Amino acid sequence: MDPAHAILFEPVKIGPVTAPNRFYQTPHATGLGWQRPQAGAALRGMKAEGGWGVVCTEYCSIHPTSDDSPHGFLTLWDDSDIAALALTADAIHAHGSLAGIELWHGGAHASNRMTRVPGIAPDVQPAMFHLPTTARAMDGSDIKVFRGWQRDAALRAKRAGFDIIYVYAGHDYLPFQFLSGRSNTRGDAYGGSLENRARLLREMIEDTKDAVGDTCAVAVRLAVDELHGPRGITSEGEGREVIEMLAELPDLWDVNIAGALGNDSKSARFSPEGFQEPYVAFVKSLTSKPVVSVGRFTSPETMVAQIKRGVQDFIGAARPSIADPFLPLKIREGRADEIRECIGCNMCRAANNEAVHLRCTQNPTIAEEWRQGWHPERIAVLPKRQKVLVVGAGPAGLEAVLALGRRGAEVTLAEKAGALGGRILRESTLPGLGTWIRVRDWRAHMIGKLDNVQVYPGSKMTAADIAEFGADHVVLATGSRWRRDGIGASGMLGLDFPKALIPDDIFAGAVVEGRVVIYDDEHYFMGGALAERLSAQGHAVCYVTPHATASSWTALTDEQGFVQTRLLKAGVEIVPLHTLVEQSPDAIRLACAYTGREVERPCGTLILVTGRIPVDDLYAPLVAMGVAVSRIGDCLQPSSIADAVYSAHRFARGFGGAVEPVLRREKPPLKGIL
Ligand code: ADP
Ligand code: SF4
Repeated sequence: MDPAHAILFEPVKIGPVTAPNRFYQTPHATGLGWQRPQAGAALRGMKAEGGWGVVCTEYCSIHPTSDDSPHGFLTLWDDSDIAALALTADAIHAHGSLAGIELWHGGAHASNRMTRVPGIAPDVQPAMFHLPTTARAMDGSDIKVFRGWQRDAALRAKRAGFDIIYVYAGHDYLPFQFLSGRSNTRGDAYGGSLENRARLLREMIEDTKDAVGDTCAVAVRLAVDELHGPRGITSEGEGREVIEMLAELPDLWDVNIAGALGNDSKSARFSPEGFQEPYVAFVKSLTSKPVVSVGRFTSPETMVAQIKRGVQDFIGAARPSIADPFLPLKIREGRADEIRECIGCNMCRAANNEAVHLRCTQNPTIAEEWRQGWHPERIAVLPKRQKVLVVGAGPAGLEAVLALGRRGAEVTLAEKAGALGGRILRESTLPGLGTWIRVRDWRAHMIGKLDNVQVYPGSKMTAADIAEFGADHVVLATGSRWRRDGIGASGMLGLDFPKALIPDDIFAGAVVEGRVVIYDDEHYFMGGALAERLSAQGHAVCYVTPHATASSWTALTDEQGFVQTRLLKAGVEIVPLHTLVEQSPDAIRLACAYTGREVERPCGTLILVTGRIPVDDLYAPLVAMGVAVSRIGDCLQPSSIADAVYSAHRFARGFGGAVEPVLRREKPPLKGIL
C-alpha cells in the first residue's frame, strides 16, 4: 500500500461497534428489494469482499404505510422478514465488515400502490408520485404508533444481525417532512418552532437507541440542505441548528443534500467530485460523533484529503462502490491504477427510477452476482485456448477484449480509427461528459497489462481481411451510426431530409450555418448536449422535440430538470410537442403532436438526433464465407454505453460454453401444487 493512503485503513469506532476501515458504502437502491433477498445479499457481500468496512442496505420499510412499489425496497414489517435480511447481514459479516440497515418511512412520498393503505404525513399532503392520492395528517396517537414501528423494526434488524441501524431523515422522507417548514404546518408539539419540528426525529433516535443501542450503533441520515433556499432546511440555517440540537444523540451522522434524490446523486454532467462538501463540511465542527458523506469519490488522494482536512471521518460512497466494488482493496494492495472509476452517468439511478434491478455503465457484473454468478474481479479461464479477432474498439469491443483476454484467449483487436474508444471519443467531448472517457481509459489500461492481447489502431478491416486473418472466432463490435431519415422513437417518419446533418457529421467537423434546429426524437443526452455545445459556440439554437420536455429520458437519470434549466439559461429556444414535417432552404415546418397544426421556424442547419442503425455490413459476408462470427454492442443493438458494455461482457462470459447461461430467478416455494 502507498503509505500516503494508510489513513484510509484506520479503524473507526461507531458507538458500540468498530468499522475496520474508513470505506463506508452508504445506503443505495439496488432494485432487488424484498422480492430478491439472495441477489441482494450477494451484491452486498461482494462490496464487503472488496474491502468496504461498512456496507449498508437500501431503504427498508418499517410498515405497510410506507410502500414504494413498483420500486425495489426492503421490508421489516413483521418477524417473517428477518430471515431474508439475515442473509445480507451474514454475507457482509463473512468478510469482516459492519452491516448497516436503512430503516425507512416515506410519509407522503410513499404511494402505497401495492399495500393500498392510506399514506401518512405531518399534514394533509398530495402523494408526491401517485396522484390523485393524498396522505392523511398524523394525529398524536398516529405518532405514538409510528414510533413503535421504528422501534419494532430496529429490534428485528438487530435480530437479523445488523450492526448499524438507521433513523432516516433524508431525501424528503417522513421524519424530514416533519423537520422542514415547507411540509410541516402543524399547530401541536410537533409543528411550529424548529425544536417542535425536530421532536419526532429526536424521539426516533432515542427510541432506536433504547431498543438496540446496547449492541448496535444508531446512525442518522439527514439532509442538511434541501436546496429550496430560506423557506426550507439550509446548511447555514436550520440544517445547522438541527445538528447543533442533536449533535451527540446518534452514534453517527450520515449527511447529504436533498430534498429530491437527484440533488444528492447528481450526475457528473452537473457536479464535480466532492460537490457536497460546501454543504456538509460544517457538521464535524459541531459533533464528536463520526461523520460520513458522499460525493462520487474515486481518487485516493481526494479521499485522504477529505479525512485530513476534517471534512468527514469516512469515505462515503454509493456510485463509486457500484462501479468498483473492489475499490478499497485495490488501494490497500497498491493497485489504485486499477480502480474502475464511476463516470457519474447515473444509469444506476435510471435503473432505480425504472423499477428494474441495478445496472452500471462501468461495472457490468453489478446485480449479477447471484443471478449469473458473476464476480467483478474473477472470470473463468477458457477450457481451450482460442484465437479471437475483435473488430472495433468502442466500449463493447474494449470490454470484450478485456474479458476474453482475462479468460486466456489469444485476442487481437483491430480498430479503424487512430485512437481507441469509439463513440466515447466523441461523446466525452460534449459539455460535462469528460468523465465518460474513463470507460475507454480503464479498459485500455487493463488490456495493456495482458500479454495475450494485441491491439492495432488504424486498422480498417474488410471481410476479406478478416477471413484471411484466420481467427477461431470473430467478434464484430463495429458500433452504429445515426439515421438520416428522421425515424426516431416517436414513429416512422421515413421522410427525406437531404440537407440535414446527424451527430456524426457534427463530430466530424461539419460546418454549421445560421440558426440551428436540433430535432430530438431520441430523448437521451445527445440532443440536449449538442444544443448546449452549439449554443456555447455562439450559434442561435432551437431545440424541437415531440416530447413535452427536453432530453425527456434523462428524467430517469435525475438530470432532466438540470438539462432544461441549462438550455433555457443559455437562450436555447425549446419547442416541445412538435414533430418535423419538412425542410425548405431556410426554414423547417413542424406539426403539433396533438392537433397537427403546422408552424414554421427559421433554420440554417437542421440536425437530426433520432434513431441509430447498426454498422454490421461485415456480418453477412463473413457468415457467407463460413467464418465463426458474433455481433456485440451497438453493432447488434444500438443502445446505451451501459448496454454495449454489458452485451460484450455477457458474450465473453458465455464464449466457449455449450449452453446458454441460465438467468436464475428467485421464486417463492410452491406448496401443494402437484
Ligand atoms: P459500441 O458502443 O458498440 O462499442 P462504437 O460505435 O463505440 O460501438 O465503436 C465501434 C468502433 O468500431 C468504432 O471505433 C469504429 O471505428 C470501429 N469500426 C467500425 N467498422 C470497423 C472496421 N471495418 N474495421 C475496424 N474498426 C471498425
Ligand atoms: Fe457511476 Fe454510471 Fe455506474 Fe452509476 S451507472 S455507478 S453513475 S458509472
